[in-house]
Amino acid sequence: MAIQSINPLNGKRIQTYKEETAKTVEAKIEAGHKAWLKWRGTSLEERGRLLLKAATVLQQQKHELAVLMAREMGKPLKDGVAEIEKCASVCTYYAEKGAAFLKDEKIKTEARNSFVTYQPIGVVLAVMPWNFPYWQCFRFIAPALMAGNAGLLKHASNVPGCALSIEQVLLKAGFPKGVFQTLLVGSKAVKAIIDHSLVKAVTLTGSTEAGQQVAAQAGSQIKKTVLELGGSDPYVILEDADLELAATVCAQSRLINNGQSCIAAKRFIVVKQVEREFVRLFKEKMSHKQLGDPMDATTNLGPMSRADLRDELHQQVLKNIEEGAVCILGGTIPAFKGKHAFYTPTILTNVKKGMTGYKDELFGPVACVITARNEAHAIEIANDTSFGLGAAVFTRDVKKGERIAREQLQAGACFVNTLVKSDPRVPFGGINQSGYGRELGSFGIREFVNIKTVWR
Ligand code: NDP
Repeated sequence: MAIQSINPLNGKRIQTYKEETAKTVEAKIEAGHKAWLKWRGTSLEERGRLLLKAATVLQQQKHELAVLMAREMGKPLKDGVAEIEKCASVCTYYAEKGAAFLKDEKIKTEARNSFVTYQPIGVVLAVMPWNFPYWQCFRFIAPALMAGNAGLLKHASNVPGCALSIEQVLLKAGFPKGVFQTLLVGSKAVKAIIDHSLVKAVTLTGSTEAGQQVAAQAGSQIKKTVLELGGSDPYVILEDADLELAATVCAQSRLINNGQSCIAAKRFIVVKQVEREFVRLFKEKMSHKQLGDPMDATTNLGPMSRADLRDELHQQVLKNIEEGAVCILGGTIPAFKGKHAFYTPTILTNVKKGMTGYKDELFGPVACVITARNEAHAIEIANDTSFGLGAAVFTRDVKKGERIAREQLQAGACFVNTLVKSDPRVPFGGINQSGYGRELGSFGIREFVNIKTVWR
């Protein structure tokens, strides 16, 4: 079956690619393994040197790669450039810190010498999504290659151009052929790749459903998985919050990447006393974004990445309204030329337990406001979810905020008075249906290694 890239601005086909056959996939897995046998013997200095080169290539190509993203998945150019810069930063981070994270650790026992060493495991498959087509991949690539593994990328089917360009960037940086390869295949081909004896582990970023299937397949082969899945991050606004700040940050987080981010704020849980004022300010901030062609420098909200996902989101909004939510902003498909994938920033209030916006992830520019009686009730609602990726709390009492973040909010990353974000220096990942395992920081580089004990 062919893989097509479609421009979400107008529904026009950009390019058609031939899907790789089982035979070429098999050949690439073998080539990856062969390359790994040599790569694992390279020094950490050499791997770091190549990662620094990759950072340089990314910086040099950031405009052209941002154009590719704008065309294939609708990301405004300036956001695309920022994404590529972040990819360069994660390459630099692991080039500089990787050796320290992977250093042998002596352990005192009765042996003459006993220590832990972090050894590479081989070819690791990465199944990646379209929302941050470079960042999601590079936050796997930089630590995995630094640790001496080889990578195989099965990217989302709507971003084949981005997928191919990642392999090109790494080859240009000087990584040996085969150490990182892109496979142009659909999701049906993934099972056979996981089953292949030379593929040692899998990382997946995407929907909970895809994570369930990939983890089950990998589990049947006793292969490790790291899963970074969806989220419905709660932002809790307490009665002593700086409402101007809270509204600004909440709108910014909800509209990041047009709402298509796993760690975007999705549920806004507001204590009753301040709800009216928060909603007024929040609506004002949510209305300010300029929808338009992602290639236009003035645009800060492009189309969503695919028309089918936009249609699904719109159905979720309509269902919410049917269930009793009140739409105070947006809720419509705006008029634009062609078969576009635009959606208007939307706010739903009066969202209650049992409703779609309360329990499901809304992966687009739609905010669900939920009213809480008091602080304890707000935290109870925040945790009343099957997910657990990120969470934020807004309060002028920063000590209290930190205590809530540390002890009460159940999520992989909890932020106080600011938005949840990923940063190369700190671990990233979720609990519950948001997945398991960690990316980034010292934890991320140790996910795909053999933590080996040596004793003599
Ligand atoms: P998917 O989870 O379906 O896609 C993500 C990646 O997984 C793609 O490479 C996809 O390949 C692959 N994939 C999908 N199903 C399987 C499977 N059964 N076995 C192996 N690989 C699979 O996301 P969608 O693009 O369909 O988006 C739907 C929803 O997923 C969103 O609305 C959002 O809720 C969530 N999502 C979450 C993301 C996150 O950052 N956590 C990112 C993107 C989506 P292919 O494209 O070929 O189907």
